[in-house]
Amino acid sequence: MVKGNVSAIFDLIIIGGGPIGLACAIEAKKAGLSYLILEKGTLVNSLYNYPVNMTFFSTSERLEIGGLPFPSINPKPTRAEALEYYRRATVQYELNIKLFEQVETVAKEEETFIVKSYKASYTSKYVIVATGFYDVPNLINIPGEDLPKVYHYYKDPHYFTMQKVVVIGASNSSVDVALETFRKGAEVTMIVRGDTIGKSVKYWVRPDIENRIKEGSIKAYFSSEITEIREREIDIITPDGPVTLENDFVLAMTGYLPNFNFLNKIGIECSVDENRIPVYSDSMETNIKNLYLAGVVCGGMNTHTLFIENSRIHAIRIIEDIMSKK
Ligand code: FAD
Repeated sequence: MVKGNVSAIFDLIIIGGGPIGLACAIEAKKAGLSYLILEKGTLVNSLYNYPVNMTFFSTSERLEIGGLPFPSINPKPTRAEALEYYRRATVQYELNIKLFEQVETVAKEEETFIVKSYKASYTSKYVIVATGFYDVPNLINIPGEDLPKVYHYYKDPHYFTMQKVVVIGASNSSVDVALETFRKGAEVTMIVRGDTIGKSVKYWVRPDIENRIKEGSIKAYFSSEITEIREREIDIITPDGPVTLENDFVLAMTGYLPNFNFLNKIGIECSVDENRIPVYSDSMETNIKNLYLAGVVCGGMNTHTLFIENSRIHAIRIIEDIMSKK
């Protein structure tokens, strides 16, 4: 359809090939719209980059899109099962998607949008931004955070075996990382700003981490903050005063943010308070006519409020709105 960098006109361009971008494409296809998904990485790139042993907290039927059943061995599917499910959904619906093609800009010219990737330029009447929140880590902004031993993404525990590992945070991700690396022989210390393990930690995981801390096999500093990272040590402030620990790796599981620079560049307005929630209507249309938001990007800084299970409905809302305009 698109040769070289010559434009074709689509009804709809969807930016982001995550679960919600795919759900939007399925609804667009069902409605007979011409559409293209542009995805900067591989298919469902965020899920691909999750920890390899990760298990979803949602049961599989809540992750389904396009009415396709998601069978999984256990009620909570694994990352590997989810990758396979969304790949099969893409194949089943023969979705029109270009992978490894990052969108750089979206500009409105009269009634159409010009969507530019670094490879080509496309024209469409409508655009959906479904870019998620997994590409920008929430930095802690302390000296040494840029050292190569500091990771904001975590894949696999083996790498950290027999190493002195500090895990920052007490969310689901931090707890999973602490337990996994501990079980592969790392000496694990958790540094937690609050005074307990996070309240949203999976109920079936909580006793495990609490008991490991209680028995002392994982060390935890609560009501504490890391203040500096150096090659072989870290500094923390604890309720009992400053502490310096020997350290090999820091796993900063401090969450992620939507790419606000990208949203700003496109012209999508966000609330000016600390939540920075993008502006959108009930039909998911932003302050820019015919430009929609879908998926977890809609949560702004409140990344814990939207998931696949409660944002897949965005696809139906948007396509209904587009069809009502035709
Ligand atoms: P994403 O899956 O993040 O997809 C966005 C896509 O946009 C990405 O593939 C990205 O590469 C692409 N993109 C970004 N910028 C551009 C650009 N400029 N050009 C082109 N492409 C771009 N949710 C649940 O419902 N249940 C769970 O159990 C669950 N577990 C989770 C566990 C972890 C560790 C994490 C981090 C999240 C979890 N979530 C869960 C949240 C869930 O991952 C997200 O809800 C889901 O990925 C959101 O889908 P999405 O399509 O909105 O965004």
